[in-house]
Amino acid sequence: MTYLQRREVVFGLAGIALAQAILGRASMAFAADKIKPSASSALIVVDVQNCFLPGGSLAVKDGDQVIPVINRIAKSFENVVMTQDWHTPHHISFASSHEGKKPFETIKLAYGNQVLWPDHCVQGTEGAQIARDINIPQAELIIRKGFHNDVDSYSAFVEADKETQTGLASYLKERKIDTVFVTGLATDFCVAWTAIDARHAGLNVYVVDDACRGIDINGSVAKAWEDMTAAGVKKIQSSDIAG
Ligand SMILES: [Zn+2]
Repeated sequence: MTYLQRREVVFGLAGIALAQAILGRASMAFAADKIKPSASSALIVVDVQNCFLPGGSLAVKDGDQVIPVINRIAKSFENVVMTQDWHTPHHISFASSHEGKKPFETIKLAYGNQVLWPDHCVQGTEGAQIARDINIPQAELIIRKGFHNDVDSYSAFVEADKETQTGLASYLKERKIDTVFVTGLATDFCVAWTAIDARHAGLNVYVVDDACRGIDINGSVAKAWEDMTAAGVKKIQSSDIAG
């Protein structure tokens, strides 16, 4: 092989590499095609309530930053469901309901381990109200959860006893909704449990990462993403949704 021929081979290979790079970018552009919510999609806005916002009794760091993102993407949805944590005044999930216990400790209850929280989202209080700046007039359902005094419910579908249904799965089924986009607070608790139970209900599930914020107790956000991914939940950004 002459020097010139060898050079051509090298250039040839470089050309293939270049073509692959271009094609690779093209296929990435395909992957980045926007997801368009349809009439069978619903946006689920989890627990964007005053208690979970900065200044609230169970504030999620930067929790208020999800609000403009959620308001923006909500415009792409015909169907929107909001959830509201809605506890009795001495709810079993409150540290104050257990003598000598402090918030963020874990105890064992009849249905399993329970993280104990500061008092939050008590029925009818200002703290339980959905954030004033959430602006989604077309929202069609607000589903309340955690209203049974002795059972918590992070999930918008099934309470922490893993038996008691909230009715949301049936509602979505009757409305012929097969895909949900989950947003809100907090990533590692109510968002994750809602998303995983949505998968169990047979739905296609996206979690919109930048429309959520986590509490993150001992790596709980990373663990929640592991669990969600294992359950078949897809992680997207708000920019992936067609405006
Ligand atoms: Zn709660």
